[in-house]
Amino acid sequence: MTTRSGIGYDSHRFAPGGPLRLGGVDIPGDVHLAGHSDGDAVAHAITDALLGAAGAGDIGEMFSDRGRDSIEMLRTAVARISTLGWSVANADVSVVAERPRIAEHREAMRAVLANALGLSPGEVSVKGKTNEGMGWVGRGEGLACIAVVTLSRH
Ligand code: MG
Repeated sequence: MTTRSGIGYDSHRFAPGGPLRLGGVDIPGDVHLAGHSDGDAVAHAITDALLGAAGAGDIGEMFSDRGRDSIEMLRTAVARISTLGWSVANADVSVVAERPRIAEHREAMRAVLANALGLSPGEVSVKGKTNEGMGWVGRGEGLACIAVVTLSRH
C-alpha cells in the first residue's frame, strides 16, 4: 500500500449576520464567514489537503466559480482523487479562532465531513484552539484552519 499526505490552509474574515457555516455545520450566532462561497474554511482546508496529497492542484484551480456549497466541492475533490486511484485514510483539522467554541460542534462536523470523505467519524478529527488573543485572529477579525489529509492506494 502507498500512502501520501497533504496539507491545506484557509482563512476567512467574519462579517455581520449568522449563521456561520463551518465543517458543513451551521453555527448560530451574529457573524458568518465572508467569501465567494459559503466561506467554510474547514471544508476548504481539507479540500486543499486532499488535492495536495494527490498532486492534483488546488481548490482555486479546480473551482473557479466558488459561489457554491463547500461540502459539495469537497465531494467533487474526493471523486477527482478517486479517479487517480486514491482513497482517503483520515483527515485532521485544527481551527484557530477566538469564537465560536469548536468543541460544542465537533461531533456534528465530524459526521458531515466523514460522510463527504467516505470515512467513519472516528477517522476525522476536528480540534479548536484560540490564538491567545494575539493578532488578527485574537482580535476576532476572522478564523484560520489547517488540515492534514492522508490518502492510500492499494
Ligand atoms: Mg476559503
